[in-house]
Amino acid sequence: MSTSVFSAEKRLFTPAALSDRAIPLIFAFPNEYSVGITSLGYQVVWAMLAQRADIDVSRLFTDVSEPLPAQAELMGFSLSWELDYVNVLNLLESQQIPLRTADRTDEQPLVFGGGPVLTANPEPFAAFFDVILLGDGETLLDDFLDAYQQVRGKPRTAQLKALAQVPGVYIPALYSVSYQATDGPIAAISPIDSDVPASVQKQTYRGNVLSASTVVTEKAAWENIFMVEVVRSCPEMCRFCLASYLTLPFRAASMEASLIPAIEKGLQATRRLGLLGASITQHPEFEALLDYLNQPQYDDVRVSMSSVRTNTVNQKLTETLVKHGARSITIAIESGSQRVRDIVNKKLETDQIFAAAQQAKAGGLKALKLYGMAGVPGETQDDLAQTADLLIELNKQTPGLRLTLGCSTFVPKSHTPFQWYGVDRQAEKRLKFLQKQLRPCGIDFRPESYSWSAIQALISRGDRRLADLLELTRGYGDTLGSYRRAFKTLKGKLPPLDFYVYEQWPTDRVLPWEHLAGPLPKATLVKHLADAQQSMAA
Ligand code: SF4
Repeated sequence: MSTSVFSAEKRLFTPAALSDRAIPLIFAFPNEYSVGITSLGYQVVWAMLAQRADIDVSRLFTDVSEPLPAQAELMGFSLSWELDYVNVLNLLESQQIPLRTADRTDEQPLVFGGGPVLTANPEPFAAFFDVILLGDGETLLDDFLDAYQQVRGKPRTAQLKALAQVPGVYIPALYSVSYQATDGPIAAISPIDSDVPASVQKQTYRGNVLSASTVVTEKAAWENIFMVEVVRSCPEMCRFCLASYLTLPFRAASMEASLIPAIEKGLQATRRLGLLGASITQHPEFEALLDYLNQPQYDDVRVSMSSVRTNTVNQKLTETLVKHGARSITIAIESGSQRVRDIVNKKLETDQIFAAAQQAKAGGLKALKLYGMAGVPGETQDDLAQTADLLIELNKQTPGLRLTLGCSTFVPKSHTPFQWYGVDRQAEKRLKFLQKQLRPCGIDFRPESYSWSAIQALISRGDRRLADLLELTRGYGDTLGSYRRAFKTLKGKLPPLDFYVYEQWPTDRVLPWEHLAGPLPKATLVKHLADAQQSMAA
């Protein structure tokens, strides 16, 4: 791909004029340009870097880059998809940087990373990163760069020790992990020196101005879209949900200080708007936001939004969507079974699902997409049958509304109450069952690859011993069989795949991320787990 992609960009910020001795920094996205530039997180961090006079930032994607410095001092990655680790390793190699932090010298850049995958559980990637930024970038990135300025030019080990003092800055090499056996659980995680913090706290931004696109381009995967973050986190706390638990507390962007100015600016550059957030309809002024978008000057603006809470689908929402070019709306129901919804803490009644479908149809939408999940802890075959029955009944009751069920497999995520559960081996069979029930009824059933879910679980609950495996499996893609073969090759050096993916872990086990503090203490997650187990027994 030619570098002309950069000239197609409409930038919505002004880069700073560079100061003398600005730090040469490569900011990489480990995937193609079209994917990276569609990531709001990547866009925002890039603009923050470019607006610092003391940072000379160049962007690098797998298919294209800006002119890169001969000698970068820092190389950063934003990692938002687990399997992109392959491209992290490839891009490091392309810059002649040793893959492992232990093999880097003072002449090589410090490699730092951030983003959802690394914030959730950085341990499988600990060997590859010198620095990992845990949490919201708003204050953390500047804190990290300011601290780096103070140690610039010092030996690498001194730099890393000083950076470890910055809240939210995690230096994996400064922690040692011991194991009960080479292929057994973790025994302990401890800092290697008394001046290294025993635990690193994920950082939370508490301002009321949230993110918005810093660039609009026709080359993005979502062509010419301007994205605004309406809310951050979700107050619902479904027990499997990383998007809620890892990012708590729930925060809403201010209408006056954040949303309206951002939208006004963005819509001068494009007529396509994306409203982002885990639960946008729970913004306290969501109705006012819809009124704002329904003003005549925005009649030609296409609006899309992430999935919405089922019981917030109302006439105003569906009519606004239709007016702004949408044909469908997406709701997450997780299951057709009330019992399973209780287990996961999804506060949703079956009649609310029917009401949402009626509302979608009455508002003029043509399609309803639902998200479900198979293999939820405690789920039985009967629960699955209820999901199929619910979809079939919905299809009967709302003719003309095309139904799609996107269905994933439950994957345990760190910092959630379900982090101790493994993937259910029955899930693949259950996805097939749903497919058999739904497709003949004209319901579009879209299962997520079971194999991919198992690999996600592996990375999600992985520890440092996965580094060898990840190097070995580079380029294997999402076939579970290849990962199984790699585990056989490394047998004895780390636990088997089943340990990470399928086994239920006791709550007193030392977790790979035990030294990394999320928003809630472990005791609270254990309590939420006990609540779920009560619902299972009911
Ligand atoms: S409603 Fe959705 S985003 Fe919120 S906690 Fe539940 S699954 Fe997560």
